[in-house]
Amino acid sequence: MERLVNTVQPYAWGSTTAIAALQGRPPAATKEAELWMGAHPSAPSRVHGSTLLARIAEAPERALGTAALRRFGPRLPFLFKILAAEEPLSLQAHPSIAQAEAGYEREDRAGIARDAPNRNYRDRNHKPELLCALGPFVALCGFRDIAATRALFEALAVPGLQALDLGDLRETFRTIMTTDVSALVFEVSAACEKLTGGPFALEAEWGARLGQKHPGDAGVLGALMLNLVVLAEGEAIYLPAGNLHAYLHGVGVEIMANSDNVLRGGMTPKHVDVEELMRVLDFRAGPVAKVLPTRRGPLEVWETAAAEFELARARVSGEARVDVRAPIIALCTEGSLEADDGASREPLRAGDSVFVPGSAATLTLRGDGTAYLATAVV
Ligand SMILES: [Zn+2]
Repeated sequence: MERLVNTVQPYAWGSTTAIAALQGRPPAATKEAELWMGAHPSAPSRVHGSTLLARIAEAPERALGTAALRRFGPRLPFLFKILAAEEPLSLQAHPSIAQAEAGYEREDRAGIARDAPNRNYRDRNHKPELLCALGPFVALCGFRDIAATRALFEALAVPGLQALDLGDLRETFRTIMTTDVSALVFEVSAACEKLTGGPFALEAEWGARLGQKHPGDAGVLGALMLNLVVLAEGEAIYLPAGNLHAYLHGVGVEIMANSDNVLRGGMTPKHVDVEELMRVLDFRAGPVAKVLPTRRGPLEVWETAAAEFELARARVSGEARVDVRAPIIALCTEGSLEADDGASREPLRAGDSVFVPGSAATLTLRGDGTAYLATAVV
């Protein structure tokens, strides 16, 4: 087992208090947006004298176990994060594997450097993700049922908005993203500020906030077409390829396939490529199904369609024994635990994390506390 020292990403939308509080530190001097636990080449977790990336490369079978090595190759298939959104993130979607492979080749052929700001595809992988709230968490996720969006637009009573053809979401979205709609966005933002009651009060409140933060940005109109989801602690959303989403506010753990492929649709100073976004977006509209954990032995497990990752939680009072089938990253979020994989033991307090190799047989957690476990399905 390896104790992890993790990189904090200082993105502007982060919080000075959330990750610090979880780790028992005083507020940070700069914004802290994401804590990365894993072996992503751009910020691998550090382990004693090395990095987790190097450890896995040196002895893949020992680090990953036979099954995960066979299924996913000599790399950790997932990236695990604590995410703290004080401010909204950009409107975005992620590609499928086929789209990522094609896009990566296309950008290579076009001579766009892999670290160029206008590069969409930084690797050949898809990036399904699961966000599980550690407290109240607000997100935009997938296109809202058309009739409901029509009702919201009627409540806002902006003629230019009501004139949009929601029967053809794809074309309407393309029009919004490719023409100058800034005047309409200003009008809609003002209407959102006025709509303080009724069934769409929360949607309007967020429409107003996004309009203030990104004046005239077409992404604000896009945001108003998406489901506004409020998660309580332990509730999660799964974001498959093509799902248009934006995290708005809150603290959670996030687990994803090991990729950095993002296509943005506005509300960001970063690169926005509408044509490529249109290629991957899923325009099916409807309500979001929250992912709730199911019981499996001592664990609660959030099951998804992704094989590269699986999130589980152990609420331990005494002892919990977990079968190790693939590598595990265990993150303690409260209380005090001891992790024991048969080869070594590590004490865990809130904010501490360890890597348990896939070749271990059992992970035993002792004490009183909660740990989130990230692993893969093999
Ligand atoms: Zn995303």
